[in-house]
Amino acid sequence: MSSPSAFIFHPVYEDRGLSPFPSVWQRYRLTRELIEQTGIVPSYGVVEKPPLADVEDLLRVHDEAYVSFVREMSVKGTGYLDYGDTPAFPGVFERARASVGGSLWGARLVAEGKYLHAFNPGGGLHHARRDSAGGFCVFNDIAVAVDLLRREYSFERIAIVDFDGHHADGTQEYFYKERILTVSLHRFDPFFYPGTGDVSEVGEGEGYGYTVNVPLPARTSGDLYLKAFDEVVPSLLAWYRPEILLVQFGADGHFRDPLVRLYLTTWTYQALAERVHDLAHRHCGGRLLLFGGGGYSPETVARCWTVIFAAVSGALEGEVGEKVRNLHDADMRNPSQDLTERIDKTVERLKRTLNEIHGEIYEGG
Ligand SMILES: [Zn+2]
Ligand SMILES: [Zn+2]
Repeated sequence: MSSPSAFIFHPVYEDRGLSPFPSVWQRYRLTRELIEQTGIVPSYGVVEKPPLADVEDLLRVHDEAYVSFVREMSVKGTGYLDYGDTPAFPGVFERARASVGGSLWGARLVAEGKYLHAFNPGGGLHHARRDSAGGFCVFNDIAVAVDLLRREYSFERIAIVDFDGHHADGTQEYFYKERILTVSLHRFDPFFYPGTGDVSEVGEGEGYGYTVNVPLPARTSGDLYLKAFDEVVPSLLAWYRPEILLVQFGADGHFRDPLVRLYLTTWTYQALAERVHDLAHRHCGGRLLLFGGGGYSPETVARCWTVIFAAVSGALEGEVGEKVRNLHDADMRNPSQDLTERIDKTVERLKRTLNEIHGEIYEGG
């Protein structure tokens, strides 16, 4: 067993969330309860309360006019921060700063070696951009964390892997012209939010070949998702040699999620967590920072996030491991059609594209 992991939790995560769905807001509280009921905390993890992010932290990656707009809307307390997805409410500014504060705190803890692994379920708000909210994301905590890691801790090679069911469009935009490796696996079709994230989006200039998208069809099963991950990501990380690994673990790819319609299971999330944990130990001394993200079936999200945190914390063994096993899906939905060939073609196209840009990353690709 390794050193304990940090579960980052600000008390306001238990109040209303950033989505417009009241039943979904409880997913953070449910996750904390499961992590305590299973005994992951205190046996394998520690709850860390983060400070709110300062306005200066936000201004490093967001326009001043946008930050002021959110602050004003937070006082006004009604309306939307974008064109009808992301609601304003009294205190939305502080709530959004807590999410960013959690990711900054996690980045500091891992960069300073206080913990090897940290998980901020309140973070992962990957649709937010420099000057706009989007898809229930107000401030992009991942971009703020990357800025901190570069500026204060001199990290240069930072890899971001995004498992949310939706494309990481906001995060991609931040680093499109930079050598920050940004990998997103997501459901993709032109009519599915946000509509971006095809294989052809690979970055520009200095960042050419450092944006990587794995677009997947609706109804992709956990097995095919894992196969695509295994074909693309480990070789890419071995080539990039990150100093720290950041992972957005939105759980809306689960088959119970009402919005996305991918067919991942809790077992898929455990397998993904075990893989990124192994890769972090192989390439970056174990430095692994996890974020939450989407997920609109709250009890499902809580089980996924608990299993993920257990997997990276070494809590899959013994009495605690037994309780974690009981959280897994009892049923599993089978994909209604075989998508193997279609996904294989996408993965081959992606590997060929990356090999053409960088030389051989993938053998025989
Ligand atoms: Zn570890
Ligand atoms: Zn999502």
